[in-house]
Amino acid sequence: MTVTVHHLNCGSLCPVCQRLVNGEGSLLRRGELVCHCLLVETPSSLVLVDTGLGTADMRQPVKRLGKGFASAMAPKLDLADTAIEQVKALGFEPADVRHLIPTHLDADHAGGVSDFPGASVHVRQQELDQVLTPNLRERMRFRQSQFAHGPKWQVEETTTEQWFGFDAIRPIDDIDLLMVPLPGHSRGHVGVAVNTDDGWLLHCGDAYFHRSEVSGKGAMPAGLKWFERSIQAQPRQREATRQRLAALHRDHGDQVSLFCAHDPVELARFR
Ligand SMILES: [Zn+2]
Repeated sequence: MTVTVHHLNCGSLCPVCQRLVNGEGSLLRRGELVCHCLLVETPSSLVLVDTGLGTADMRQPVKRLGKGFASAMAPKLDLADTAIEQVKALGFEPADVRHLIPTHLDADHAGGVSDFPGASVHVRQQELDQVLTPNLRERMRFRQSQFAHGPKWQVEETTTEQWFGFDAIRPIDDIDLLMVPLPGHSRGHVGVAVNTDDGWLLHCGDAYFHRSEVSGKGAMPAGLKWFERSIQAQPRQREATRQRLAALHRDHGDQVSLFCAHDPVELARFR
């Protein structure tokens, strides 16, 4: 079944030191990272893949995102960047968004969940456990305030499909969209594969942070590398996942377009 995909930036993050974040530019100026989300139009509903920052995050960044994140990432506080405002600007009703598929539940991926309280939120149990029964580190990392409204969680566990050698979950019947477990950054992290007329897209979330990690071309900026390692939940799994994605790009790059959540150069390729 054919779908139309819109590539959205639902949050501009501006951490210190452009050169350490983007690999070029000034040491003094702030860098720029995006929150690359997908709005998928299907015949029966809209599906939002990753949700970026939401309206409450823009209005109360310290309460919702935490003081550390708000000051380190310095997100641009513009309501027009939220998924719900972009859905409206495209001429849709927010209620038409019936399914949310966050790649994981970090603050910059799940902030928009509360803007779509009627939508099902498809997650793996291991990801949800980090929010419902967090250990000390997870308590600091995941933002309870983003889930206080009581999301309609839909736990997706059964990997019934194979996709280019990866186990995959089909969360919505009749739609060629698959959740592909890519653990490491967080415990239940997934990529989301969408079949389009131009081949498959794979939203890799935070399974990697910079295009060089899968293409092997160029060097990863040092600040980004430090951040990737400092936040990873499972170092060995994260590196194994990254290697599998690099192999997927190498062997099937003509059939699958990979991108991560935060690389502005990758987003620009699709817009
Ligand atoms: Zn992220």
